[in-house]
Amino acid sequence: SLSDRLTATFKNLRGRGRLSEADIDATVREIRRALLDADVAVPVVREFTSAIRERALGAEVSGALNPAQQVVKIVNEELVEILGGATRTLVLAKVPPTVIMLAGLQGAGKTTLAGKLAHALKAQGHTPVLVAADLQRPNAVTQLSVVAERAGVPVFAPHPGNQGAVDLDVVIGDPVGVARDGVAFARDKQHDVVIVDTAGRLGVDAVLMQQAADIRAAINPDEVLFVIDAMIGQDAVATASAFLEGVDFTGVVLSKLDGDARGGAALSVAKVTGRPIMFASTGEKLTDFEVFHPDRMAGRILDMGDVLTLIEQAERTFDAEQAEKMAAKVASGQDFSLADFLVQMQQMKKLGSMKKMLGMLPGMGQMREQLENFDEREVDRIEAVIQSMTPAERENPKIINGSRRARIARGSGTTTTAVNQLLERFEGAQKMMRQMAKGGGVPGMPPMPG
Ligand code: GDP
Ligand code: MG
Repeated sequence: SLSDRLTATFKNLRGRGRLSEADIDATVREIRRALLDADVAVPVVREFTSAIRERALGAEVSGALNPAQQVVKIVNEELVEILGGATRTLVLAKVPPTVIMLAGLQGAGKTTLAGKLAHALKAQGHTPVLVAADLQRPNAVTQLSVVAERAGVPVFAPHPGNQGAVDLDVVIGDPVGVARDGVAFARDKQHDVVIVDTAGRLGVDAVLMQQAADIRAAINPDEVLFVIDAMIGQDAVATASAFLEGVDFTGVVLSKLDGDARGGAALSVAKVTGRPIMFASTGEKLTDFEVFHPDRMAGRILDMGDVLTLIEQAERTFDAEQAEKMAAKVASGQDFSLADFLVQMQQMKKLGSMKKMLGMLPGMGQMREQLENFDEREVDRIEAVIQSMTPAERENPKIINGSRRARIARGSGTTTTAVNQLLERFEGAQKMMRQMAKGGGVPGMPPMPG
């Protein structure tokens, strides 16, 4: 997987120099392959990777990440951005009812979604009603009625006498009229949300598109949700473009994400239409429905959730420059001060949150073992004690006599014993740093407290 391939290139956590063009090209090649594997449409991949390459070439050199990690981080940021950045929620009408229209191909999951959406809205205290404006298939109205009953919401459907046609292409009744009447019904009966289910065809077709556009014009919806099957793959762009042009929509719902689709359709649709993806449908049950999270989808597309988490953590927590400075200072024979000790402790504390992930990185096993014995509360105590010292005391702990000890203990809310323990531990660390300065070792790694 991409995750494995890229992990192999993450030789160390420390930044090394500038992003070279070769580094970037190699990483972008892997990204391109991952996107194509995820079924992102070819033109989208092309445009996306060239944008990434450009941004990577101009990128600032990060202290915490190596070139591959930096490119991946850029890719992730761009993916999240295209997928909508922050999660967008439903726009509710100022004067109810809020009108939500569903559009999409046959089998995309519109009717199923109508039930899920109604169910979720009902749980939030809304009073939704479903409107059966799919009169294309003989059993469509019945299917919506079943879904509505399961969701515990009412359904507005055309007169039962209109059902029962056999020919798939025969329009039974007038879907535009039903949609309009459905919205009027909701207003009348004080339902605050109306969800209008519409017909789809197996492929994009002009009649269907016109019908959806007519329904839209008749009911003036607050939201038009375009439902698309995540498994649709390379066809996503053509389908989404056709609906954008023919009906236009305010948001996208990605269905069947429970399958093994890697979500390339999400990227293609979001990129080509510029519309946010709002919900994900993840199964046939009413509750298999969630708000769409761009960051999770970016991870799914790249199939590298763990690596991304690791990169974020590394960047947030590991101040490589700091470590570099420390190493240089120790190597040059300068003495290791209490202030240095505190900085190291604080870094260790941040790294503590990474301990689960460090095992993933080659050569980090030993460090992880040490981190497992690491007590973060101990660092808080150390911090309090050091912060209660005067700068002079921090520079030269030898001057800390009995009365200073008592003052520091009071100031930090600890005891003189705790102050003594800290000073002993610091002396041990100082000695270790001096030894390392002489004989190499692992600069930046303080001895473990506790
Ligand atoms: P519509 O033609 O757009 O109304 O699509 P339907 O709602 O009738 O769904 C078509 C088929 O896909 C049905 O068998 C649904 O049970 C199924 N389906 C819909 N959404 C999902 C989903 O998120 N996951 C899975 N596994 N099946 C789904
Ligand atoms: Mg349907």
